[in-house]
Amino acid sequence: MNIRILIEFEKTTYNIKNKNMSKEYDDFMEEYRKKHEVCPKCGSDKFITTLVGYVLYMNKKEEYKDLNECECVKCGHDCTYHERISKEEFNKK
Ligand SMILES: [Zn+2]
Repeated sequence: MNIRILIEFEKTTYNIKNKNMSKEYDDFMEEYRKKHEVCPKCGSDKFITTLVGYVLYMNKKEEYKDLNECECVKCGHDCTYHERISKEEFNKK
């Protein structure tokens, strides 16, 4: 299963609740996705994940954590989505 399915699902339910905030939500999620794009061990962006939807509170965005379990397809490393890192961070290692 691909993470994009989860994100689209969250976006849809969120839009029903509050249309005005969806741009801010989209921007945050886009940035969050980039920050947690790759496996911290091998840098692969391919992974298997659980599909729990975590709620984003717009007034506490910095506390948002996607704690879905991710298993890297390349090296088998298990971690939460939040523990994954950006491509830039990986390249610096
Ligand atoms: Zn890996």
